[in-house]
Amino acid sequence: MSSEPTEQSVLSAVPKQLYIGGEWRDATGGATFEVEDPATGKALCEVADATAGDARAALDAAVAAQAGWAATPPNERSEILHRAFLALGEQAEELALLMTLEMGKAVSESKGELAYAAEFFRWFSGEALRLDGYYKTSGNGASRVLVMRQPVGPCYFITPWNFPNAMGTRKIGPAIAAGCTMVVKPAQQTPLSMLALAKVLEECGLPPGVLNVITATRSGEVSSPIIEDPRLRKLSFTGSTEVGKKLIAQASDQVLKVSMELGGNAPFLVFADADIDAAVDGAMLAKMRNMGEACTSANRFHVHESVAKEFGDKLAARMGALKVGRGTDAGIDVGPLIDAAQQGKVAELVTDAVTKGATVVTGGKKGEDRGYFYEPTVLVDVPHDARVLSEEIFGPVAPIATFKTDAEAIEAANRTEYGLVSYVFTKDLTRAFKVCEALETGMIGLNQGIVSNAGAPFGGVKQSGTGREGGNEGIAEYLETKYVALNI
Ligand code: NAP
Repeated sequence: MSSEPTEQSVLSAVPKQLYIGGEWRDATGGATFEVEDPATGKALCEVADATAGDARAALDAAVAAQAGWAATPPNERSEILHRAFLALGEQAEELALLMTLEMGKAVSESKGELAYAAEFFRWFSGEALRLDGYYKTSGNGASRVLVMRQPVGPCYFITPWNFPNAMGTRKIGPAIAAGCTMVVKPAQQTPLSMLALAKVLEECGLPPGVLNVITATRSGEVSSPIIEDPRLRKLSFTGSTEVGKKLIAQASDQVLKVSMELGGNAPFLVFADADIDAAVDGAMLAKMRNMGEACTSANRFHVHESVAKEFGDKLAARMGALKVGRGTDAGIDVGPLIDAAQQGKVAELVTDAVTKGATVVTGGKKGEDRGYFYEPTVLVDVPHDARVLSEEIFGPVAPIATFKTDAEAIEAANRTEYGLVSYVFTKDLTRAFKVCEALETGMIGLNQGIVSNAGAPFGGVKQSGTGREGGNEGIAEYLETKYVALNI
């Protein structure tokens, strides 16, 4: 790729075919689909639209490569991941522009995602060298216990559009490290970043068949033959709880190992003793990262009544100053939402809250330009029955409700079927620990508005999912434990 990427250069460089068994090929029958720029609503290019037969071929390739890949020395697997970590850094300009074109976020945010995505390759390049087992004398002193950890086998990964690169590397990294082969299906709105990632891994020496990518419009139709195939051993999905539930049901037939990273409804708690400026900084990160289109996005703000006005005013001033526009333009903070449906949903939730008594302090409208823009919005006096407090917004809207006591704050925070992440702002150490222990979420940002970290276990409880990505826990999702009883 050129050193000064242009829209044209990145779009012409990215592969647009399926990647199966180390070959780039058209979909059977040659069907393609359009990838759209959400800032303009215009088509960017077309990519292959896989059939169920192509999906089977991708799984065939993963199955054929499995034994050889599992036998590849960990040093080699580690080195491929480390080369890919470096390559993502070297190609960040091109890959960020490509991501912005198909997904909408500002180029600076796309670069942030790429840096985060690359960290999973760095982390798991280390983990590849630390796969272990153990040997011990059993209690009776006579026999021995030998425990080995082996790759689970061929995996199927389904990823969403909101973090088109990082949601892939969080699965691909540990699978490569553990010695698993895989088929990946990115979201149809953002296939280009995944195709570009496959090219990077190919150039970094990943052998044919280890990673296979199918792009498709008929997600269910291409996924079913893979999930129903007894040769598949693991399904890892990032996306909505609704689709996740269907996939868990489908996976039960083969008793697949499953990892599910699903939706969220993150509470952001600000206690009376909090550093309000720090809380506002944290809120900007937790709310506005990815325009609010993140599973970790602060969905609702519960603020102690004594500081609610100060917090609301300061947050509204910061949100109102953000520059909205096409993510490729200089100085833009907030890009468009992914599509008209998402824009419509955000508008509907704001209307519902206002109808029930909430007040708009800033924003509250769709953008006037073409594309799917929505103004950064702060709502105060949001009543408990407003849908915006219980449904995942996935947009730049910050609803603020108040509380009087710690117990009330905890009860409000846990009043949801989701349990991915929560944020807590307080300077009181005792309160911090008590609240952290009481919150029903897999992750907590304590006095910070971001939790994502390749070296930490990312994941949720309740209907936000099962399994963890990253950290020491991340590799375990790709390993089976085998115990050998030794009679010596
Ligand atoms: P989605 O509609 O569930 O789609 C996610 C992926 O599933 C896409 O690749 C989609 O393909 C595919 N899919 C949809 N129906 C399917 C089916 N019947 N069989 C197989 N695959 C199917 O979610 P989204 O709107 O892309 O992403 C937003 C959601 O992801 C939010 O709820 C967010 O919270 C969640 N998320 C969670 C995490 C986490 O780590 N917990 C991270 C990021 C996002 P198509 O593109 O073809 O529909």
